[in-house]
Amino acid sequence: MGYQICANCIMDTSDSGIVFDARGWCDYCKNFYEKIAPNWYHDERGEAQLLEMADKIRAAGKGRSHDCIIGVSGGVDSSYVTLVAKEKLGLRPLLFHVDAGWNSQQAVSNIEKLVDTLELDLYTEVVDWLEMKDLQLAFFRAQVPHLDTPQDHAIFAALYNFAASNGFKYVLTGANYSTECVREPLEWHYHASDLTQIRDIHRRFGTRPLKTFPMADILKFKVYYRFIKGTRVVKPLNHIPYFKEPAMQELSDRFGWQKYAHKHYESRFTRFYEAYWLPVKFGYDKRRAHFSSLILTKQMTREAALERIAQPAYDEATIAQDFEYIATKLDLTAAELKKLLEGTNRSYRDYRNSMSLIEFGTKVLRATGEQRAIIR
Ligand SMILES: [Zn+2]
Repeated sequence: MGYQICANCIMDTSDSGIVFDARGWCDYCKNFYEKIAPNWYHDERGEAQLLEMADKIRAAGKGRSHDCIIGVSGGVDSSYVTLVAKEKLGLRPLLFHVDAGWNSQQAVSNIEKLVDTLELDLYTEVVDWLEMKDLQLAFFRAQVPHLDTPQDHAIFAALYNFAASNGFKYVLTGANYSTECVREPLEWHYHASDLTQIRDIHRRFGTRPLKTFPMADILKFKVYYRFIKGTRVVKPLNHIPYFKEPAMQELSDRFGWQKYAHKHYESRFTRFYEAYWLPVKFGYDKRRAHFSSLILTKQMTREAALERIAQPAYDEATIAQDFEYIATKLDLTAAELKKLLEGTNRSYRDYRNSMSLIEFGTKVLRATGEQRAIIR
């Protein structure tokens, strides 16, 4: 198949599963207009749903020090949802942060400002660095594109494990259609919740046992926590008008919150991985999905997105500096890291995985309308 780019957004054949219609529009666009947009109420109707939900959350939290928990990274989505929870919904959230060893200075300072100004409580879980490093190195050696899995898994597993064992019934997240309606295809990033894959890659390439590393497999996430422990996930940003630029401006005006160059760049590892490693080694540019989401939700023009994507996400001087920083932090020499960069690329299919189970679960969630974004 030759190269093709969607005529409406900027997704292209770097997603090998992409399908175009007669107009040259891709299936992400079709899915957005047919499935997401008609069911996305970010007007009075959505707000009414959200206020009703807030009543339930407050009622469930009576007599407890906090009525819900919010995982915060210092990024715009989780910061904004915190502001909404406290001021708009009158909730009493506990903020939960996972320090996986790669926080940027901006991320730390953003969280501190949020906590101080809104007078909230923060719990920080620090992941054992030696275990984190060992698992990350294992993923580098496995030559898979989803190097962000160890970090993402730790963040989600720590949050949900903590929520369940401390009796939290409601987890609020910054997940939203506004900036994430086009999801990166699985061949770019895979499922961070697939513990079978994590264990297999670690068994083959890891060197030290994972004793305290936060873990939760897909069944624990989707079935045990939801149906046995009764943990509900609420996504407030889907019920209000949420737009990235004005949200960042409001956070900056109110808290002195600092912007960073692009989505997810609050972690130094993620910045290096998404802006450099993934496009250079695999030809996958996650900005393509992020920008396409912003195009579909009218926060960016297609022309502006094409202009931005034509430029690398990184400048040469920063690459050199970060390359050295990442290598040193992982106990590699720059030459060893370069060798890993040049190794033969593999995919999640080359290792044990729970894909069939996940696909089944995704079908169920799509049938019930709980999951409307395309996941493939
Ligand atoms: Zn499209």
